[in-house]
Amino acid sequence: MTAEKPEDWELLTEDQGYRLLAHYGIPVPRYDLVHDLPEALAATDRIGYPVVLKVVSPDIVHKSDAGGVLVHITGPAEMEESMARMKASLQEKAPSAEIRGYMIEEELPPGLELFIGGKTDPAFGRVISFGLGGTAIELYRDVSLRIMPVGSEDIGGMIREIRGYPLIAGYRGKPSLDQQALIDCIENMIRLFESDEGVAEFDVNPLILYEKGACAVDARIYRSLVRKRETPARRELDPSLFRPQSIAVIGASGNPEKIGYSIFRNLLPFPGSLYPVNPGHTEILGKPVFARVADIPGTVDLGVIAVPATLVPGIVEELAEHGTPLAIIISSGFREIGEEGEELEKKILSTARKSGMRIIGPNCLGIVLPHQNINTTFDPVAPRKGHIAFISQSGAIITTIVDWSVPEEIGFSAVISVGNQLDLGFIDFLRYGGWQDETRAVILYIEEIKDGRAFLDVVEEISRIKPVIVLKSGSSAIGKKAASSHTGSLAGDFEVYLAAFRQAGAIPVFSIREAFDVAELLVSEGYPQGNRALVITAAGGFAVLASDYAERFGINLPPLSPELTAELDLFLPPIWNRGNPMDIIGDGGAERYARVFDTLTRFQDEWDIALVIAVPSAVIDPAHLAQEIARFSKNTHKMTVGCLVGGDSMKRGMRILRHNHIPNYEDIESAFLAVGRTLAAHSIRNRESGLKAQNFPAEREQKFV
Ligand code: ADP
Ligand code: MG
Repeated sequence: MTAEKPEDWELLTEDQGYRLLAHYGIPVPRYDLVHDLPEALAATDRIGYPVVLKVVSPDIVHKSDAGGVLVHITGPAEMEESMARMKASLQEKAPSAEIRGYMIEEELPPGLELFIGGKTDPAFGRVISFGLGGTAIELYRDVSLRIMPVGSEDIGGMIREIRGYPLIAGYRGKPSLDQQALIDCIENMIRLFESDEGVAEFDVNPLILYEKGACAVDARIYRSLVRKRETPARRELDPSLFRPQSIAVIGASGNPEKIGYSIFRNLLPFPGSLYPVNPGHTEILGKPVFARVADIPGTVDLGVIAVPATLVPGIVEELAEHGTPLAIIISSGFREIGEEGEELEKKILSTARKSGMRIIGPNCLGIVLPHQNINTTFDPVAPRKGHIAFISQSGAIITTIVDWSVPEEIGFSAVISVGNQLDLGFIDFLRYGGWQDETRAVILYIEEIKDGRAFLDVVEEISRIKPVIVLKSGSSAIGKKAASSHTGSLAGDFEVYLAAFRQAGAIPVFSIREAFDVAELLVSEGYPQGNRALVITAAGGFAVLASDYAERFGINLPPLSPELTAELDLFLPPIWNRGNPMDIIGDGGAERYARVFDTLTRFQDEWDIALVIAVPSAVIDPAHLAQEIARFSKNTHKMTVGCLVGGDSMKRGMRILRHNHIPNYEDIESAFLAVGRTLAAHSIRNRESGLKAQNFPAEREQKFV
């Protein structure tokens, strides 16, 4: 059970660890580091029985597993026997471990065992974790995480978020424990982590919490001997880069089988100047061809490069000489194929840095800015104009999404394939994309992020103005990580990403479908003002399902006020349920829905979200109902969501909703899920901006979905 750690990391011995904790105000037991029995007996004179005996070894991660922890030693004879027993057990279970001595510790009374962990994530830097601890920690896997820096209020959030929180707050007659002492301990560990002690990773497990006070009885602390490099400052970007007036396609071709043909064809609708460049052609699709970039008579605002990788550095140089400020390199054959490709990238970057030219790609699909009629991809399907900016690390996902979005009538303000991110990456696109005005929601598809801290800053900034939805691949890495022997890895990389996204105010989603369900909702309705939802339906069965989904996705269904109920009683059949979900009974048509809507419009203070569920029925004309929902939506500034469920007979209604920009979901679960996701992000934003959070549920439900 040897801990595999970087060579430049040093593990502090238990006594060094305790000293460091004590220095930062975290209570530790009285202790002594000893090497033999006489020293141990002398130590107990000072500490007093009962004591705990522990092995001190840099090679043993879980001391108990190796028989390296013996508790409740009450006298000298027992000490002698315990020491002999421990030596024998270590000899058997960890024969090659270097034993540096033994700790004699004051034995503390039993209490609730918790842990505080810290690790340095390659993408986001320091991450702090908290949860139920002790020797069964891997069994509970009950962890909350935050990326540092963490504010004091957020420490409270971390504590409340774990499933085991009732054990702290008081449960089934058990008294509540000292939360303030716990907060102080976490806060002090954060201070220690942030200090210049060089701590790279730590585990305080357990921290024992009592009705009064807390005490750490195990501390593993890794110190890094190398100082971290500062990340270089990012260069500002001129947003007008993304509003080019002239585009050159280098590698444009007249041969329909070539990528250079498809790109050029897709760019034909571009209203500015379009220049094909190819020494082997004179005319492509009716446009005169230039042999070299230098031959182009005017300026080139954007160069799109689709030539073999080895030729790309030369082309980039030509564009730089021509004064082109932005190039998109579609070609592949770079970093992704190995060293040779990496060399080519270096050459390109050096030219770019010298000239000030910026690069998108290489190895990317290009960009689509539908509002400007710019499409540099070779994808045969062109996305519609709309309000979603979709930025993706996978070209294949873009192709798939675009193909699917057209019949679904989903539109985009931008589709960006980031490729290898040699120069421009997620951060630049988010911060400087010139398409911002047309964008109402951003979807990111992320495989890996390098400069995590800067990424979070920009997401935090953007998500205050418009929703940022994040789909991260690689959740299956959890299993792999869980096998690690260190509790700091209890939360795998994927959980760190999720915690980071949530902290920055982004909305994490777990499938492409979900990403667009949420985006569509936010594009048309914006963030909801609170989490009080009303469900209106004439289908009793769906009312029950709706309650289940509301609970699962953290949506509050408050009871109707007596005033509102009285108003509805005036025209609804006497057997209606007078509850929420509202079952307005299946014998009424669209007219009945309409009267309910009108009443609800007058009682807008009572709710924030209205979900209208309708199923095929002999008395309901779906088109009529859709028109009424549209009218309702216009009359209220609250979130209105359609849920016309069914097949062909409902299609006309669905189409009407779509044309009125009202989100519609063809199954109830998707509707509740989408609403729930937006609420979680919304509650975080409110908390951070100090607004009154209106009883928003904890985001626990989404923790490990
Ligand atoms: P490890 O995690 O390496 O196995 P610990 O030092 O955490 O070893 O000890 C294992 C368990 O022994 C702790 O989870 C705790 O329950 C108990 N324990 C350790 N030290 C003390 C102490 N000083 N007082 C009371 N209980 C202790
Ligand atoms: Mg421990």
